[in-house]
Amino acid sequence: MTRVTGLIDSNSLSAEDTSVVIIGAGPAGLTVGNLLRAAGVDCVVLECESREFIERRPRAGVIEEWAVRGLDRRGLASAHLLAAERHTACEFRLAGERHRFPYEELAGSRHHVYPQPLLVTDLMRSYVDERGGDLRCGVRDVRLHDIESERPSISYLCPGTGRRRLLRCAYVAGCDGARGVSRAALPEGRVRIARHDYGIGWLALLAEAPPSADCVLFGVHPDGFAGQMPRSPEVTRYYLQVPPGDDPAAWPDERVWAALRRRLAADGAPPPAEGRLVEKRVLDLHDYVVEPMAVGRLFLAGDAAHLVAPIAAKGMNLALHDAFLLGDALAARLTGADPEGAALGGYSGACLRRVWDYQEFSQWLSEVYHGAAVGDPFRAGTAVARLRRLFTSPRAAAAFAEQYLGTAERY
Ligand code: FAD
Repeated sequence: MTRVTGLIDSNSLSAEDTSVVIIGAGPAGLTVGNLLRAAGVDCVVLECESREFIERRPRAGVIEEWAVRGLDRRGLASAHLLAAERHTACEFRLAGERHRFPYEELAGSRHHVYPQPLLVTDLMRSYVDERGGDLRCGVRDVRLHDIESERPSISYLCPGTGRRRLLRCAYVAGCDGARGVSRAALPEGRVRIARHDYGIGWLALLAEAPPSADCVLFGVHPDGFAGQMPRSPEVTRYYLQVPPGDDPAAWPDERVWAALRRRLAADGAPPPAEGRLVEKRVLDLHDYVVEPMAVGRLFLAGDAAHLVAPIAAKGMNLALHDAFLLGDALAARLTGADPEGAALGGYSGACLRRVWDYQEFSQWLSEVYHGAAVGDPFRAGTAVARLRRLFTSPRAAAAFAEQYLGTAERY
């Protein structure tokens, strides 16, 4: 476990030594922490929020089957996750018609419907309660030092005392999401950050209401995209395309339900079941990718390294993929199984191949969802053709299913 080594300098910084400091206790950070603890490697997870807060934060809802298998292989899939409802199809709604898309038949794989707070709660319980992992919540002003040296360190303000503390380590895992400090600590000129802005907003909604269909619904409509994602028998996520930067206050509940009814309308389909809207916020859709994902002893994982707009529900899956590779590589390096650190050396390249593939798919899908509503008849025509091809060409349908489920043999 972490060894407290006492004061290190005249500033009276309380310093400790550990092997890995993980910044951020989301899906990426907690997965890395669990893999290190399982291998007997000491680590500390620093998190700026409380445990209660992060175990309730609503976000993603579906996990691709390969990621569930990856968790299971590493002893991290709870019985609840393994028993979670699986989706085998989705439905597109276009011009009042319903087009069911049976992706399991085409890709041999499914989605597990498992809301992110449940996954985070499972990973937290495993890391803290079962493996005795060191988690420090509520930390403030986290700073990274000497990441290009062999002995980097992380300092932070302790919530209890308000004093700055120092953790010296061999490696740093930057898993602190899109708004964290790790990415900003990368030295200038050592990485390239590629960005893409869709110029589109999504009103993200969480309703205390049952879903009106047994699968995900995508409504392609001249007014704008609408999506329905079941989360549980009592809770449903909805998305509505809105202008970027739109004010959620401009969307009173009656306007939301009217827009959902209109954009998801189709022959024989029941309207969305209404309920209390417990989340209503506007996401401006954008992506970024940091290349490479590591500099010196700092390795980024998950949203800290790449953001993919929630268009194709890929972000948490990518975070898990990074975390599997990073956790396994750090454990191998620090237990002596990989003394040269070959897996760590290949980490960034191995992650980025899947990251770019998922980014391209999300961009492709964005045009299908939004092309009909941009006011350009040419783009509307090609967007609808792109979608219809999935219902008329078995080969196009199979390729889509593979990308939607992330089942390509190699990335
Ligand atoms: P995070 O989950 O963001 O975790 C980072 C952690 O670091 C947080 O706990 C944060 O509090 C902490 N932190 C931040 N700064 C600091 C700091 N300075 N010091 C210490 N700690 C810090 N993905 C899917 O795969 N499928 C979906 O269906 C899906 N739907 C989504 C819907 C919405 C509305 C949103 C917003 C996202 C969705 N995503 C989805 C994306 C998914 O939620 C993210 O990709 C995922 O949370 C990334 O995990 P992470 O561990 O990298 O980062």
